[in-house]
Amino acid sequence: MSFLPQEIIRRKRDGLALSAEEIQFFVRGITDNSVSEGQIAALAMAVYFNDMNMDERVAFTLAMRDSGQVMEWKSLNLPGPVVDKHSTGGVGDVVSLMLGPMIAACGGYVPMISGRGLGHTGGTLDKFDSIPGYCTVPDPELFRKVVKDIGVAIIGQTAQLAPSDKRFYSIRDVTATVESVAMITGSILSKKLSAGLDALVMDVKVGSGAFMPTYEKSVELAESIVAVGNGAGTKTSALLTEMNESLGPVAGNALEVRLAIDYLTGRSRPARLHEVTMALCAEMLVLSGIEKDDASARARLQAALDSGEALNRFAKMVAALGGPADLVESTDKYLESAPVVVPVPALRAGFVSAVDTRGLGLAVVSMGGGRRRPSDAIDFAVGLTGLVELGDAIAVGQPLAMVHARTQEAAAQAVREVQAAYALGDVKPAPNPVIYRTIRP
Ligand code: URA
Repeated sequence: MSFLPQEIIRRKRDGLALSAEEIQFFVRGITDNSVSEGQIAALAMAVYFNDMNMDERVAFTLAMRDSGQVMEWKSLNLPGPVVDKHSTGGVGDVVSLMLGPMIAACGGYVPMISGRGLGHTGGTLDKFDSIPGYCTVPDPELFRKVVKDIGVAIIGQTAQLAPSDKRFYSIRDVTATVESVAMITGSILSKKLSAGLDALVMDVKVGSGAFMPTYEKSVELAESIVAVGNGAGTKTSALLTEMNESLGPVAGNALEVRLAIDYLTGRSRPARLHEVTMALCAEMLVLSGIEKDDASARARLQAALDSGEALNRFAKMVAALGGPADLVESTDKYLESAPVVVPVPALRAGFVSAVDTRGLGLAVVSMGGGRRRPSDAIDFAVGLTGLVELGDAIAVGQPLAMVHARTQEAAAQAVREVQAAYALGDVKPAPNPVIYRTIRP
């Protein structure tokens, strides 16, 4: 069927719902450049103001997913479901590095296409890039083989997956049209669903380090993703999780890889990080049908940690994708450390009453641990460790964190930024939930 792009834009401008055929036509035009940048911007602005209903969102998501390659796993006859997790992004969120191997150890198959850090948030892909030799862009055959043999492969986005989203997002980014739940839903799900998943669990962050600006907006996004994911044929649920402080006590690429290894070996399992990791993993096992309920899923996950099988899957994945075979045993030999390590002294005594989590993430970016421009190189060694938590009682001069920096100047700047990110008060705040809500189909 043939349509005119300007008529589709006009209908959306006038508040009408678009048909699946109209949406497919327009998205094809985004991919093959037959609709212009101006037309894409105009449609994005019309959607921003007039929204899309759930049928439109499903059609939009599927059209974007199908604009490129969609992976298929059926022909491999895998003995378990293909399942993944995606997060809206945060600080100190190293969950994916443990979750993928944990699910693999429990019989799931995790073809995880991960992203780079965006703004103040860290990216799983950047963390893996800190491992020498680890290839985040393997050829598709190797990717399939690693998923099949080990149960998990964590790699980067390729140009073949959902190419329409790449063009659409870059235009939304410069036309003030990113902040639309309908378009965010389509953007996230089109990429995730191109991995050919049976089930997806979404981690939607809430709080001062979250992508969505308010709790209500986080809920709206979570509900939209659950409705559209299921409408598009993939079992989908969402957890709303705490991001009013760093999830783990560590932020920065190589530092977070160390934390993931410590978690899997059992050397260190920080409580909030453990709670979110277990909750997401348990949801994945139940949603995908591997386990019948939350309690049995958690028991199986704990066994996979205790037996060392989750650690074993992590080590095998790293080696299979070109990383060192002894990364777990000889971590210091491979992961870079920063030359300057200094404490961040608290400027006053009190209880930690609020954390500007975005500010913490930006402190890592300022040190070179993230990008200012897409082409920037990352300094994997830098970051923060020992971050104190909401509600902790702090004496004046006590460290709020340790700064790991490349130079004394960068360290001094980061010390000021971390000090500014922490508010200390006289009253101990009531604890926040770690998991706010779970939204299921
Ligand atoms: N992340 C995405 O991938 N897409 C959006 O639209 C927003 C965040």
